[in-house]
Amino acid sequence: MNEPLKILLMGPQGSGKGTQAEILSEQFGIPAFGMGQLIRDEVASGSEYGKKLEAIINKGDLVSDEDAAGLLKLRLERPDTNKGYILDGYPRNMGQFNAFNFDSPTHVIVYEIPRDESLKRLGGRLTCAACGKVTSVSSGVSAGDDCSCGDKWIVRNDDTPEAITRRLEIYENDTQPVIEQYKEIVHRIDGVGTIEEVSTRTFSAISVQ
Ligand SMILES: [Zn+2]
Repeated sequence: MNEPLKILLMGPQGSGKGTQAEILSEQFGIPAFGMGQLIRDEVASGSEYGKKLEAIINKGDLVSDEDAAGLLKLRLERPDTNKGYILDGYPRNMGQFNAFNFDSPTHVIVYEIPRDESLKRLGGRLTCAACGKVTSVSSGVSAGDDCSCGDKWIVRNDDTPEAITRRLEIYENDTQPVIEQYKEIVHRIDGVGTIEEVSTRTFSAISVQ
């Protein structure tokens, strides 16, 4: 491949795009990152920009679309992106799309999984409020059972089917207009199946363009 591969990965929580981002990164030898990671790395670097972001976060405010895009612009100037990059989960709404006006992706991969599959993958999470440990009902424990610390496993408010459904609806509402903007380079990938099956579908979508 001579042209840089600039791949955006989209998909709801639990669609497995983080795993696919790692596989693509290794296969193509290009870096993969998401906005949350860029922000955390910049804060950890102690740079002037990082200090500005840290102050915003410490106040409990959200990093603005412009600041996030500024961070991405700096990241894309680094030489390891010369052959391309994989951007995981960004832009996820029209505000971010409009701020991301300094580069043009070559591929937008949208992982699609049915709502009930998302609920199955994301549901069943149990948390111990006392020690903070997390487990899953698939490991054989139930809400109300004892954690090893002696307290009880509970379903957090964030992990109820209603809360998960609400997050999935927000994703769909916010992301559909972005997908529409990119429609000429969008590849919709069936996200149901093994990691290998999904990555095979992804590779063929990228290479047949
Ligand atoms: Zn515990």
